[in-house]
Amino acid sequence: MTKRLTIMGATGSVGRSALSVVRHANDTAADPAFAIEALTANTDCEGLATLAIEYNARRAVIADPAQYATLKERLSGTGIEAMSGSDALADVAQLPVDRVLAAIVGIAGLKSTYAALAAGNSVALANKESMVCAGPLLSALSRKNGAAIVPTDSEHNAIFQVLERPEDVERLILTASGGPFLATPRTKLANVTPDQACAHPNWSMGRKISVDSASFMNKALELIEASYLFDFPEARIDVLVHPQSIIHSLVAYRDGSTLAQLGTPDMQTPIAHALSWPDRRTATNVKRLNLLDISQLSFQAVDDERFPAIRLARQALNVGPSASIMMNCANEVAVAAFLAGQCRFTDISSVVEEALGLDIAQTTGSGEEFSLSDVIALDQEGRHRCHELIEGLNARSRSEAQ
Ligand code: NDP
Repeated sequence: MTKRLTIMGATGSVGRSALSVVRHANDTAADPAFAIEALTANTDCEGLATLAIEYNARRAVIADPAQYATLKERLSGTGIEAMSGSDALADVAQLPVDRVLAAIVGIAGLKSTYAALAAGNSVALANKESMVCAGPLLSALSRKNGAAIVPTDSEHNAIFQVLERPEDVERLILTASGGPFLATPRTKLANVTPDQACAHPNWSMGRKISVDSASFMNKALELIEASYLFDFPEARIDVLVHPQSIIHSLVAYRDGSTLAQLGTPDMQTPIAHALSWPDRRTATNVKRLNLLDISQLSFQAVDDERFPAIRLARQALNVGPSASIMMNCANEVAVAAFLAGQCRFTDISSVVEEALGLDIAQTTGSGEEFSLSDVIALDQEGRHRCHELIEGLNARSRSEAQ
């Protein structure tokens, strides 16, 4: 039967990979495997219109209201409804479908992820930042409405695929590629450029997650995401550097077995699984794994001295949910500043560490008591404080230079 999909963040790296999965599945199945209810974007109006027409979407939503007229004009005569604004994003996330793919980057994806689950829609979750900031809230909503969250981040999807009986699991093991600076000495990290940070050796991704990957902040956010998604304490989640990105994560059981999911590093595989689940019928054209070609899989521990992010994530989880919100917003603000040439690469973890020390909310509860507006208010306040931290850093370096 044809599955109806809505793709939030369709013009991004994950969104486009998902549409490639849809195209291949529809081209190779007797009946269309997927039909598109809605596609969304932030500012890429032309990209959105092209995709909406190519994939015969019913609706296209541009978050930036200033682009509504252009989108409407571009879609005139196609029968595709043009919509705009952040409320429209939440509105389309609530339309009944078989799965909503949450692939907006950053906490900007939270409202629509929440709206989808609140309406009872099952969510394929790539947008890790919404789980990091509102994990307990989203998990409670998913349970209450019987709306499954299907992990789509490759590591969490790998764990989801091999997690049989959580009560019999000893440890979850997240693998990390190590990013482009795995072998870069600490003294050189301060001067790396945004383009160097975005040149990931294995994965082709959006710029924010590429920087996160280079700083290990991606793995730190994934540690928090895994803790909330699978209800595991951080002390039972390990991180292992595995530069080839072939083993996407592992689950170790109490009987001594360790189960892993393997595949070539291509997001189409976890996306196909997450869109298709609970069946596994979606064929992809990703390069098949040939272990003879790879011949060697290697592993190493995380270097917490050069990359303090994992230690900071453990600290945040042990403090409580407000610390995870703080960690995420500090990272979002610092990565945007780094990409805009306003701070150094090594300032990212310094800003996150300082922000965690601010402890703006000092909450230690389960996090379920936070409402959506509480999370958004904490994020806004945190952002304000983090901008001040970055201004302070820049003022210090200006005075040192004089
Ligand atoms: P991209 O930057 O490539 O794409 C982001 C998408 O979100 C675009 O469609 C963008 O629209 C849209 N968007 C950005 N800001 C807003 C906003 N304020 N409101 C509404 N829409 C917005 O990101 P990725 O695809 O790389 O990542 C998406 C998410 O998936 C992230 O949370 C990331 O951590 C996660 N993820 C990504 C992986 C990857 O391989 N890329 C792997 C695993 C997880 P526009 O194009 O108009 O700017």
